Amino acid sequence: MEKKNIDWANLGFGYVPTDKRFVANYKDGKWDEGALSSDATVAISECAGVLQYSQSCFEGMKAYTTEDGHIVTFRPDLNGERMENSCKRLEMPVFPKEKFVDAIVKTIEANAAWVPPYGSGATLYIRPFMFATGPVIGVKPADEYQFRVFATPVGPYFKGGVKPLTLCVSDFDRAAPHGTGHIKAGLNYAMSLHAIVTAHAEGFDENMYLDAATRTKVEETGGANFLFVTKDNKVVTPKSNTILPSITRRSLLTVAKDYLGLEVEERTVYFDEVKDFAECGLCGTAAVISPVGKIVDHGKEICFPSGMKDMGPVITKLRDTLTGIQMGRVEAPKGWLKVIK
Ligand SMILES: *Cc1c(COP(=O)(O)O)cnc(C)c1O
Repeated sequence: MEKKNIDWANLGFGYVPTDKRFVANYKDGKWDEGALSSDATVAISECAGVLQYSQSCFEGMKAYTTEDGHIVTFRPDLNGERMENSCKRLEMPVFPKEKFVDAIVKTIEANAAWVPPYGSGATLYIRPFMFATGPVIGVKPADEYQFRVFATPVGPYFKGGVKPLTLCVSDFDRAAPHGTGHIKAGLNYAMSLHAIVTAHAEGFDENMYLDAATRTKVEETGGANFLFVTKDNKVVTPKSNTILPSITRRSLLTVAKDYLGLEVEERTVYFDEVKDFAECGLCGTAAVISPVGKIVDHGKEICFPSGMKDMGPVITKLRDTLTGIQMGRVEAPKGWLKVIK
């Protein structure tokens, strides 16, 4: 297979349409078989549920070329399971996780020429999503839906080296108690845009959201979960049912425990104890883990000992081990890598 002629190392994180996408439609109470399509556009009713009442959810994952030249994807069953939960909470029809994984495999296979080569630092980002296509004018779930999966090549996340991030404690809330913070709903992102634009305008890279009810507990950022490292090398992550269950974070905890022999804790993390941690990172599919150097709470600065130049030692080891697993350099736990070809 001939790879596309792309300057992989200089790709950004943006949308580049690829050859094929998977499309399935839900109508009369059932999903059709679905098929690959060359059409990158969607034509739907002006009154579609997604356009009127934002009935949509999505997933995000990647395909990698391993050191020995295989194309793999990482724990797609967990994305399928999470999308099932998103659909249930949004009164959308579930796209069964086995069929979800099948659609992911078909999409990656059909775009194999777009999977960046090993060592380029780039990856193929996969975006599965579902939205209501049926018309609704009264507020209710639509009758018709589309499930789609497209792929787009994305560049190395840390181009030109790692730069630890500066966060601000947001005055806005990301997720309400008993709301939709635990699912990957488009609406969570729509309402976070004002908060992130505000943070950027004030010179910050990201927001740290606290729990909406008490504003005392650490939740997450707009699109990544927190990992902290204590001064005695324990890995701590906030536990709350309004946090999106990141697959990267769950995988990093396993890596910490089983590969690095570190103690891990998933528990309530109060904002008051953040100043005592040695390292802080943000985890998600896009960056794996990004170091946080500083958190600013209304003018009061918390500076982590790992500083503003480099990743801390534990976060570096976590990152190297997980990317090693994804790229086939480190043996993966059973079931983590799905080999496409
Ligand atoms: C997608 C997402 C994450 C990261 O999840 P991964 O499965 O690791 O990619 C974290 N927080 C939010 C709010 C998200 O939407």
